[in-house]
Amino acid sequence: MYNLTIAELAKGLRAGEFSSVELTQTYLQRIHQHSELNAYVTVTDELALQQAQAADAKLASGDASLLTGIPIAQKDIFCTLGVKTTCGSKMLDNFIAPYNATVVDKLNQAGVVMLGKVNMDEFAMGSSNETSYYGPTKNPWNTNTVPGGSSGGSATAVAARLAVCATGTDTGGSIRQPAALCGITGLKPTYGRVSRYGMIAYASSLDQGGPMTRSAEDAAILLQAMAGFDEKDSTSVDQPVPNYLADLNKPLAGLKIGLPKEFFTADLNSDMVATLEAGINHYRQLGAEVKEISMPTLKMAIPAYYVIAPAECSANLSRFDGVRFGYRCENPADLADLYTRSRGEAFGKEVKRRILMGTYALSAGYYDAYYIKAQKIRRLISDDFKNALAEVDVIMGPVTPTPAFGIGEKLANPIEMYLSDIYTIAINLAGLPAMSIPAGFINGLPVGLQIIGNYFDEARLLNVAHQYQQVTGWHQQVPKGFE
Ligand code: GLN
Repeated sequence: MYNLTIAELAKGLRAGEFSSVELTQTYLQRIHQHSELNAYVTVTDELALQQAQAADAKLASGDASLLTGIPIAQKDIFCTLGVKTTCGSKMLDNFIAPYNATVVDKLNQAGVVMLGKVNMDEFAMGSSNETSYYGPTKNPWNTNTVPGGSSGGSATAVAARLAVCATGTDTGGSIRQPAALCGITGLKPTYGRVSRYGMIAYASSLDQGGPMTRSAEDAAILLQAMAGFDEKDSTSVDQPVPNYLADLNKPLAGLKIGLPKEFFTADLNSDMVATLEAGINHYRQLGAEVKEISMPTLKMAIPAYYVIAPAECSANLSRFDGVRFGYRCENPADLADLYTRSRGEAFGKEVKRRILMGTYALSAGYYDAYYIKAQKIRRLISDDFKNALAEVDVIMGPVTPTPAFGIGEKLANPIEMYLSDIYTIAINLAGLPAMSIPAGFINGLPVGLQIIGNYFDEARLLNVAHQYQQVTGWHQQVPKGFE
């Protein structure tokens, strides 16, 4: 039963083939059995069983949604009322959220069963899950490799069948990159599509929550429940949410796909190119027209992002001062000592590096040279996408330069680590929606294909992904030992 998708489980639950309590027990057992993957920071066994009982009652009354009784893992960046919410940091190791994030509330209203909170890079800064205070999460396809990050716990949980689906957040690639490295489907929505209220802020102008699932159909079901205007988030957009399931089966004949030549340079190794080309060929067979496009500003995305994201993080993380939230050092001598030691003792190395970079970029004298310049580049990148998406319906390319890398391999070299997001970061700078779908394997490790669309065109992305999943089986593969 743990190999079934949301859509399949919803049928089984309605037909009375199993109950949500049985389903939840199966998942909880698997989570404890596979604790070596370190996917979960907190498992909420009791709460899950209570929610499952309530879901069974709803199902019996005939008043259930497609998500009623479906076990989900919440990324530990979403505040969950009465449940520890750590953001992968020692700073919040003792933080019990006093309210639910809007995403959590919406999913609860839809009837999900929360299995627990899943591991992540500290404050979502990272591409490998290795910056977590709780230790690295392992990739179930090869436990010596990383699951990607920062939503690595989410990706591992879904891939290893330790949750049916999960939430993730994506500031520069953190839904798509782990989805690619773990062979699952991930969708980063348009900026403003999903409320950020109660989602602990990293870089507020880039952060966006989204679904991580086994299939595009499941992503449509989950996004349906997560999306929508929220008056508590001033950057959420007041636009109606379309019915994402309704468009999944539209034929793709005539779809225009653009392949940016800047994505397919000599930097991308030949195995990756061959895997992606095979994927794009399926689209040709489905009737799509594929053409090369050029987006010359893409190469500036990493440097611009690593000014803007740290600048915003340095402001966002100033609230963790040892007074208002989380960790406080022992016996501070005075107020300055309280601030510096609390922050010094509770933040990890990468978070400190980002705060330093951001504070530097925002300081008088450097603000124009770095921050303003990066903002100008951001506009040029958005314009490049605008022009490209006037010519084509979707843009396709790699998600990552390589399949999963080894645990420890890139830790000593932050620039190498930052380059893992070279194909995803520009999309966040432009605020566009994008997906990663499983498109093959290299040496037994999954490879993702990226599909980028226009603002609020999630329905089309899901349709494009779903049609591919009707003619391929990559998304149905299960890592050995987790079948
Ligand atoms: N790896 C990128 C970073 O470290 C993106 C992380 C994210 O999307 N949260 O900033």
